[in-house]
Amino acid sequence: MELVLATRNRDKIREIKQILKNLNTRVLTFKDFSGFPEVVEDKYTLRGNALTKAWTVARFSKKLALADDSGLEVEALKGAPGVFSSRFAGEGASYKDNNRKVLSLLEGVPPHRRKAKFRCVVAISNAYGRRKVVEGICEGRITEEIKGRQGFGYDPIFQPLGYNETFAEMSPGLKNEISHRGMALKKAKAVLEEWHKKRVIGITGNIGCGKTTAARMFETLGAKLISADEIGHLLLQEKKVKNRLTRIFSSSILDEGGCIKRKNLREIVFSDKKSLEQLDSLLHPLILKEVKKNIKACDDGIILLEAALLLEAGWECLVDKILVVTSSRQTQLRRIKKGTDFTPQEIRGVIGVQLPQEEKIRQADFIIRNDGREEETRKQVKKVWETLEKEDCEARG
Ligand code: IMP
Repeated sequence: MELVLATRNRDKIREIKQILKNLNTRVLTFKDFSGFPEVVEDKYTLRGNALTKAWTVARFSKKLALADDSGLEVEALKGAPGVFSSRFAGEGASYKDNNRKVLSLLEGVPPHRRKAKFRCVVAISNAYGRRKVVEGICEGRITEEIKGRQGFGYDPIFQPLGYNETFAEMSPGLKNEISHRGMALKKAKAVLEEWHKKRVIGITGNIGCGKTTAARMFETLGAKLISADEIGHLLLQEKKVKNRLTRIFSSSILDEGGCIKRKNLREIVFSDKKSLEQLDSLLHPLILKEVKKNIKACDDGIILLEAALLLEAGWECLVDKILVVTSSRQTQLRRIKKGTDFTPQEIRGVIGVQLPQEEKIRQADFIIRNDGREEETRKQVKKVWETLEKEDCEARG
């Protein structure tokens, strides 16, 4: 596995590399790329900045990225400098300038009122926006003077609780063990290990392209299949959902037994854009919640998330890789006519709301062309599966 550190701060890079050293990961930095993005830290929270940095670098590098945003919070200064820690004494201020400013603001403040904490927020993101944020805190106090030469930033004026030395007087090993960054990265390590164990591959494709056929083939090879489309159909049987839908679309969408007539619902939503938006805004969040629950319930292995609207609905934030099943327009139409009772207007409607195949192909990590015989498709599925398994082996070392 490779992990890109979304920072140009050499002090942070040194510490993060040291803390992550036994994670089975190749750690990359800005030095490994040309055109590495410069991220402006313009959010008002550490979380916001960390997420922006991780997401920007993950998208740029198409790899997993990790960002840290941290700050010192001094109780007597009402939590300042906080998110403004790096520029507390002004834009481009040195570590020394910042330390002096904190000390001068605390001049005359007695020891018991010099409480402070370091907070570190770590965000991890993949190129599709699958992300997680964790936090670490280290409590302590601000000293009366600058002490020690190790570390960086506010280390020479921060004394962690239970110690008589500042961070800058400690060995790097001890600082990393007890620091805010050490705490946050310990949690981040656990997340990365979990993501490693449980990889989610999104399988998508336009109607009639045969994604369900391909998904079943992966299932026989050992993938755990979660079908967002099936979850959507099941949700339509839930009383709460039915009630909400009849309130929007009238009871004409129900049969005598009180079940949703999917055909009637289709007729309504594919002839009126606003109705489709109403249906999507009701169902998509419920599907997303259920899919997340299903992913969480899987212990490990390769999980295949089958979703026709993976990219249209923004569900790619749940996956590590995207697999697109395609076929020619001719085959697509032939299959729809054979396999469904859709009217020409419904067919046009469904195809109309799906991204063009070329766009999906552009975003894909794997493509399966499903135009020929089933055996041809099976061969391609097997090849993708072998690649995924090989990647898994490599990631485990
Ligand atoms: P940012 O996370 O890049 O916005 O910068 C946070 C600022 O907080 C750094 O420039 C340092 O001044 C300070 N800081 C963050 N972590 C530490 C640390 O471990 N020791 C000392 N100062 C730190």
